[in-house]
Amino acid sequence: MKKVIILGCGGFVGSHLTDRLLASGDVHIEGWDVSYDKVSEHLDNPNFNFHQRYVDADTTFDELGPHIADCEAVISLAAVCTPAQYVASPVKTIRSNFIDAYSLIDLCSEHRSWLFHTSTCEVYGRTLSSYVPTDDYQDLDLYEQREDETPLIMGPTRNHRWSYATAKQLFERYIYAHSAESGMPFTIVRPYNWFGPRMDFIPGRDGEGIPRVLACFMTALLDGQPLQLVDGGGAYRTITFIDDAIDALSLMLEQPKQAQNQVFNVGNRASEVTMKDLAFLMRELAAEITGKDAFLEHPIEDITSDKFYGEGYEDCDRRVPDVTKAESRLGWKAKTDLRETLRITMTHYFEQYGRPAGLTPVRDA
Ligand code: NAD
Ligand code: UDP
Repeated sequence: MKKVIILGCGGFVGSHLTDRLLASGDVHIEGWDVSYDKVSEHLDNPNFNFHQRYVDADTTFDELGPHIADCEAVISLAAVCTPAQYVASPVKTIRSNFIDAYSLIDLCSEHRSWLFHTSTCEVYGRTLSSYVPTDDYQDLDLYEQREDETPLIMGPTRNHRWSYATAKQLFERYIYAHSAESGMPFTIVRPYNWFGPRMDFIPGRDGEGIPRVLACFMTALLDGQPLQLVDGGGAYRTITFIDDAIDALSLMLEQPKQAQNQVFNVGNRASEVTMKDLAFLMRELAAEITGKDAFLEHPIEDITSDKFYGEGYEDCDRRVPDVTKAESRLGWKAKTDLRETLRITMTHYFEQYGRPAGLTPVRDA
């Protein structure tokens, strides 16, 4: 039986990874998180030992220390990772993504344990394209993101949007530094907008604040409010289905020789979409899933980022991953297209939250 540690096992990615690893039957998880709603079905599983704690430097050494010596991998997912918080709570964001977390690297380095860290595609920041006189993205070298070559371009310090990306970047650099000095094995994953069931929360139902775009648009559809396009909705994202992403993580865990001491982009470059097109597609799918044609006319409106997030927001213009490393080293490629990703994900949201408003999937009606 392999033993792994997962920090942040109760979150969106953590709960899907926990599902997958426990289903394999040959993995024991020591999991830490402050919440467990998304993994509650596993609490009685003898292969899952859940610790309900916020992990900081003290917890790292006191609680994780005894487990680290004999575990296969330490998987670090715990983070504050919603853009609204980067702007509203930059101190909390930096604490969570670096200060409360870096002692984990010290400890893994001391034991030479495999540190498996989820960073973010946001470490690339903005593309070079957005800084040249035309931003028409003609030259792939100016916008495609390659793990070991592409510069990391953050905006000005006064724009708190970059609090998360810079903390994540420093964390990556601290991993590299330790690995160079102690030989600690590591894997760094840069997720590209992974979407799926259980992502974030619906404000007023099971959380408060502003979630990421998927849950923002779902909230608007459920509540009969307009979908809001921040600064016109022209930003591009590539959307990756969570099951494809978990396939990538599983392949890494199964093939340490291929995965160790590497950074991997994990994204679906075929699923690129502007936020405006995403809004139109989601209202079309809402009509298809619920059988309510009124969704086809669901209002969509523009809003400034100052009004939506507050001062200090700046957007990543575009994120196109080069995924050749994941393909060649792991044999991984995203399989699920954008429409299917949204259909599965939105069906889940309507099942979980739609009943009070009579918005359940047609097949459940
Ligand atoms: P999430 O917010 O759903 O999950 C994070 C979990 O960590 C939460 O359950 C939270 O309670 C927990 N947590 C935070 N700080 C903690 C601490 N100090 N101690 C214990 N628990 C703590 O986020 P997610 O989408 O599952 O993201 C997981 C990781 O992947 C994060 O590191 C995030 O930066 C990275 N990531 C995800 C995406 C994506 O598309 N989902 C994109 C880029 C990066
Ligand atoms: N966005 C939007 N409307 C919303 C929420 C977000 O237009 O209700 C935009 C946001 O400005 C960004 C994109 O959607 O351009 C993706 O935002 P998300 O919160 O998912 O995080 P990011 O991809 O920036 O990390």
